[in-house]
Amino acid sequence: MNYSQRVIKQLQERYKDESEFIQAASEILTTIQPALDAHPEYERAGLVERLVEPERIIIFRVPWVDDEGKVQVNRGYRVQFNSALGPYKGGIRLHPSVNLSILKFLGLEQTLKNSLTTLPMGGAKGGSDFDPKGKSDSEVMRFCQSFMAELVRHIGPDTDVPAGDIGTGAREIGYLFGAYKKFTNKWQSVLTGKGLSYGGSLARTEATGFGAVYFLENMLHQKNEDIKGKTIAISGAGNVAQYAVKKAEELGAHVVTVSDSNGYVYDPNGVDFDALVQIKQVERGRIKEYVKDHRDAQYHENERPWGEKCDIAMPCATQNELDLDDARKLVANGAKYVVEGANMPTTTDATEYLQKNGVFFAPGKAANAGGVATSGLEMSQNHEHLSWSFEEVDDKLHDIMNNIYKSAWDAAKQYGHEGDLVFGANIAGFLKVADAMMAQGIC
Ligand code: NDP
Repeated sequence: MNYSQRVIKQLQERYKDESEFIQAASEILTTIQPALDAHPEYERAGLVERLVEPERIIIFRVPWVDDEGKVQVNRGYRVQFNSALGPYKGGIRLHPSVNLSILKFLGLEQTLKNSLTTLPMGGAKGGSDFDPKGKSDSEVMRFCQSFMAELVRHIGPDTDVPAGDIGTGAREIGYLFGAYKKFTNKWQSVLTGKGLSYGGSLARTEATGFGAVYFLENMLHQKNEDIKGKTIAISGAGNVAQYAVKKAEELGAHVVTVSDSNGYVYDPNGVDFDALVQIKQVERGRIKEYVKDHRDAQYHENERPWGEKCDIAMPCATQNELDLDDARKLVANGAKYVVEGANMPTTTDATEYLQKNGVFFAPGKAANAGGVATSGLEMSQNHEHLSWSFEEVDDKLHDIMNNIYKSAWDAAKQYGHEGDLVFGANIAGFLKVADAMMAQGIC
């Protein structure tokens, strides 16, 4: 058994109930073995055992009062995974499915993703099983204030800088920031994804979706193809999906699907971005409402979009939303590219199947890194008390995505796995964190 297999076995024994975390850790550790072979000193330093164990996990009670005057209690988490490269950085997820396994998988992914951006950011993730869907603004505000009443002790501009994720958008970040300021009496760059009137960065809202499409363009150019005229199936209808739709359509692609957890919409005329924004951002409605004003569009209840014919699939909703059956359908329908906008949306067997069948596959930790990269740019602007233009931030985002593509491609090639971006992104992200951890001693 090699070093990575031994650590995977230890994790399986120690964290039996953490299936998502084991899935993410196994995928990463399996692919980095060639780098471990090249660096025997890593094993002597227990480097991989330390990499997969979060530096700190905080779990706390979040009591709040609903609009009926009833006390509700949720569970809050912050997983401070790795600070070798900089202050902890990663989103806050508000969704009923949130548990430690999901946050540990996200924190580990985030550690390597942040490394790939080359910006000085460590990895973290947090959240709660609170569901903002169907809650009033006042309820969301009271929850956020209670959540921050504990989180405030553990974060700071040089310690840990949380951001948005599923269920945490501009409204939630605003309430969290207001509460932080009240508790500390300090206006600090302690959260990213802030509103433009109070320290947010232009292009942050768009960054993850735009960045994923910039990454896709690199893949297409590698194969001497162009995005113009390509048919794209996208899942999700949230922040990442919306701006992936926008950028892909701006560049001449034909996006035919979007979805939420209840079903998907197929629009043969191309998804109407403005209508999507109206339903999801303004009305906070369900995606099925889209078909009311789009006669040719069809809504498919309780189904996922992967059976639709497309050249490119971009899963942008949640983990494990594209499984082996879906992968088979995509291949049978001629899809040639899969780009993960969400974190780990493709199951391990589906990823293997796609790659074996000639699909050029981009893992989320590379393709969706534009969000956290632009959060890093928001932090830089806050520290300098400056506000860059949309074009300036978008140009930097574009450069960062091109560089991430290049480092994943080059690392895969260097280790004899040319064209395998899963392998390349894991190795490139890992080596930088490993180097910093080795330099900092056993800690
Ligand atoms: P949002 O909350 O804005 O949107 C999430 C979307 O995914 C919604 O359409 C939601 O539908 C759908 N969804 C959530 N859970 C499920 C589920 N169990 N099954 C099917 N659909 C589901 O989140 P984001 O767009 O911000 O995040 C999407 C993904 O991208 C996540 O994996 C996140 O970690 C990742 N990501 C986000 C970044 C960002 O900057 N926002 C950065 C990097 C990665 P419904 O309304 O029905 O719940």
